[in-house]
Amino acid sequence: MTTQISGERSQLAALPLEDKVRLLTGADSWRIPGCDALGLRPMVTSDGPSGVRGTTLDESNPSSCLPCPSALGATWDPELVRELAAALGAEARSKGVDILLAPTINLMRTPLAGRGFECFSEDPELTARLAVAYVTGIQSAGVAATVKHYVGNDSETERWTYDVRIAERVLRELYLVPFEASVREAGAAVVMAAYNVVNGSRMTEHARLLRSVLKGEWGFGGLVTSDWDATRSTVPTAVGGLDLAMPGPNRFWGAALARAVRAGLVTEEMVDDKVARLLAVARQVGALSQAPPIVDGHAHGPTDGGDGRRALVPAALLRRAVAASFVLLHNDGAVLPADRAGLRRVAVIGPNALHPVIQGGGSARVIPASAPAPVRALREAFGGGVSVTTAPGCRTWREVPEPPHGTVTDPVTGEPGVRLEFRTAAGAVFASEHRAATALAWWDGLPPGVGWGESGVITVRAAFCAETAGPYLFGAAGVGRLTITVNGTVAAQGETRVPSDPVETMTRPGEIRGEVTLAEGERALVSVDFRPAAACQGPVALRLGITPSADEGTLMAEAVAAAAAADLAVVVVGSAETSESEGYDRDTLALPGRQDELVQRVAAASPRTVVVVNAGMPVLMPWANQVGAVIYAWLPGQAVGEALADVLLGRAEPGGRLPVTLPAAEADCPVLHALPRDGRLDYAEGLLIGYRGYDAAGITPMFPFGHGLGYTSWDYVSAEGPAAALARGADAEVRVRVRNTGARPGREVVQAYITGAPGNGGQPVRVLGAFSGVTAAPGEAAEVTLRVPARVFAVFDEEAGQWSWPQGEFTVQVGRSSRDLRLSVTIRSGHAPGGHDGATSSTS
Ligand code: BGC
Repeated sequence: MTTQISGERSQLAALPLEDKVRLLTGADSWRIPGCDALGLRPMVTSDGPSGVRGTTLDESNPSSCLPCPSALGATWDPELVRELAAALGAEARSKGVDILLAPTINLMRTPLAGRGFECFSEDPELTARLAVAYVTGIQSAGVAATVKHYVGNDSETERWTYDVRIAERVLRELYLVPFEASVREAGAAVVMAAYNVVNGSRMTEHARLLRSVLKGEWGFGGLVTSDWDATRSTVPTAVGGLDLAMPGPNRFWGAALARAVRAGLVTEEMVDDKVARLLAVARQVGALSQAPPIVDGHAHGPTDGGDGRRALVPAALLRRAVAASFVLLHNDGAVLPADRAGLRRVAVIGPNALHPVIQGGGSARVIPASAPAPVRALREAFGGGVSVTTAPGCRTWREVPEPPHGTVTDPVTGEPGVRLEFRTAAGAVFASEHRAATALAWWDGLPPGVGWGESGVITVRAAFCAETAGPYLFGAAGVGRLTITVNGTVAAQGETRVPSDPVETMTRPGEIRGEVTLAEGERALVSVDFRPAAACQGPVALRLGITPSADEGTLMAEAVAAAAAADLAVVVVGSAETSESEGYDRDTLALPGRQDELVQRVAAASPRTVVVVNAGMPVLMPWANQVGAVIYAWLPGQAVGEALADVLLGRAEPGGRLPVTLPAAEADCPVLHALPRDGRLDYAEGLLIGYRGYDAAGITPMFPFGHGLGYTSWDYVSAEGPAAALARGADAEVRVRVRNTGARPGREVVQAYITGAPGNGGQPVRVLGAFSGVTAAPGEAAEVTLRVPARVFAVFDEEAGQWSWPQGEFTVQVGRSSRDLRLSVTIRSGHAPGGHDGATSSTS
């Protein structure tokens, strides 16, 4: 998909200015207006990146829930990412979505970043390769991809305002790399300008980065959209290069933009350029041709045959991708794959074994098309002869969990779910419907009189059946005034705080709680009344939670007993539901709750303990060497159960490699907290983020960047670089031969790291230059060619404002991770094109 703006301008001469500016602001939360005179239908945008949500977040509009992007980063497999993205693009099309707000291609600067799970990696080259694959896949389905958030939105604390202070060289050599590759190599149709400020200028107003670099140097012909509500001025944004203000209405654009044109502050030519860019994207997604009707943002796209069926991502593809993303960090005495023949009892332990966190929070969230059920998948996989016991071991939730499916029913229809009512302030019900979910959210579409600042009340009513006798916690989460009533008695009442970031109305709204004791089998009638707060923005969300009030000591003791009685203990630990989200950063790398203690006590009770870590970003694992095996499973999406069973039993290889360094201690992280000071966030570490920082400081991480064992072993046989000296600006090819020395077929990710040319100050010890996956049967050798892009040999010269290729010798180290380098070749570079001054490569 390539954008073509020049051809679109000719259509605009006859269009009144008001009509043009109307097109440049959202029609609502997700739609871009259409224009009959241009034959343009409205276009629909939707988040990404771990699925395509559509315009509503409700259970009647479910989505494939993919492994989170850090998991995709762990595949180190651009072809697999392209395949998944193409399937996701088809799903988007079938939901009537034209523009997917994905991928997120910021870098994992700090492991605490709340949205780190949405990024691919801490490395720009790995991110760039996967970004190109993702954009290509999405756009192959006729959907526009949006690369975001341009640029410097690498953490969440004060994300709307912080001012990143960052050297030009660091921008060019790290943070801009994936954006440049997505634009130049994949023709990304849309770029999203971030909330934050970079070197004193808001990104939505950043004339240098938007106009000079993106549209000028890189020749970007697509559309620059604002992040949601990030358009905070008229002239500076319009002149700076922003093309579209989302969502709408927006008081700074629309009529205000037309006035600015009339006042001569913005030229009409600039407006024409923006509209032409919009039309170019519209043409690519088919919004200017015979367009299918869009009904409620989904179900009427060209690939669904018009019958409302959605083209979900194939289950087998999801399952394969999840296994390919699992990273086997440690496997003492080959505990894995588990031999089913020797097993009679398996204990499946941990809070995340029963309730895995399959996705991160915030705008990336979708309603999964199928419920994750790891225990059921493991039971099926182990088969009838093996008994599988379960124990949560401890609790990690911060908000009362939603009641398990089927335990609450609609008191009117008796169906699983709740009764949703909209009431006037006086209590009269004016609308009522059945909902299958207990967490509800609305951007648009609440009835008049209900919402922020309105007097109407949202009521959820449900019948809850208590399985066992004892005290139960009832929670209601939402921003505003809440009352929980159980069996006619008020159990809790209160007003929750208005968050500073609107996304928190959905990701971590305040909660009120009450405890009520119920008899075994008792049917309790629960209702929650919610009046959204007076002064708030963002989606309106309401969640009902019900859970038995458990004693943690008992939970722990039950888990340890289950482990002691089993031949194999599988402990799934990790993030809690709200640990990793848009809108806030984590404040610690430690696992929430008593999970470290749980792993240690289970490992002491069971010599065969496998730990599965369910987290989108690094966590500390002080027990890693005390357990038999550790698998890093990320936030795996809906296919978690099947993929876990495949990997534990060896039906699939845990094919992943770390896209981010796992630290041994918080103090070891090159950048830990990203806390702005007086609104400024100094990227003082320069180029030294991630493994570059560990290498420069000589710190050994717990598990290094690129690490991952798989189920076989590999010998690195030989590496060969280019025969001649490398011309300035030329890519380098390195041929590597490896041999599978284990007993199983497998896939190896061959990685090439480049150490800088002499005299090149400030350069990291080594940087990833290229990588490639290769498969081989046991005993078989395979050869792979790695193509190191020329840019990896270059330095951005800040004074000259251009790339320069230092002359000198580079060492290309080849191996299994950034700290397991087996072979090296020397390359001489920086010579004029066609130069033959004797540069050769040698292997050691
Ligand atoms: C996020 C974007 C997202 C947009 C729309 C913003 O808060 O930063 O990534 O695409 O909301 O949901």
